[in-house]
Parts: sequence; structure tokens; C-alpha cells
Amino acid sequence: MTYVNERVLIVAAHAWQCPTCRGKLLADPDGVLMRQGLTGEERKLFRQIAPGDWATVGALAEALGAARCDLENAMQHPRCRLRHL
Ligand SMILES: [Zn+2]
Repeated sequence: MTYVNERVLIVAAHAWQCPTCRGKLLADPDGVLMRQGLTGEERKLFRQIAPGDWATVGALAEALGAARCDLENAMQHPRCRLRHL
């Protein structure tokens, strides 16, 4: 399991909880992720996510190469809950 930056987890966790931002992310991943300060490598992680991977937290974590508990922790992060993408 590779280390996944907290920024990546917070963006994924917010998009998981917020259908509006998820729609933006799916429509224009590079534009949205650039504004979040993600690197090219980190943006690549998001491009690997298939639409079906958004079905469950476990599938989303797996698509990102992250531990499910790390993604769940990011969902409790105040920045994840308060800040739209
Ligand atoms: Zn949002």
C-alpha cells in the first residue's frame, strides 16, 4: 500500500459526501484538482477511478490505493466537511 497524501484523501472524501462536487470532479477532474493544489501524480490517481468505484467507500479507497480507514478518517476532517471543491 502506497502512502496517499492527505490532500488527496480530503478531496476524495468531500466528493464522496457531496454530489455537487463529485459531479464537478467527474466533469472536469484536472480543473478541479488543479485548484486543490494537487500534483500531476495525485491528479493521475483520480483519473484512475472508474464511475463504479464511487459505489462504496471501500471501492473508492482501493481505487486510490489508500487504506479504507484513512479515507474514513478524512471524512471526519473539518476541511473535508466544510470546504467545497
Ligand atoms: Zn462540495
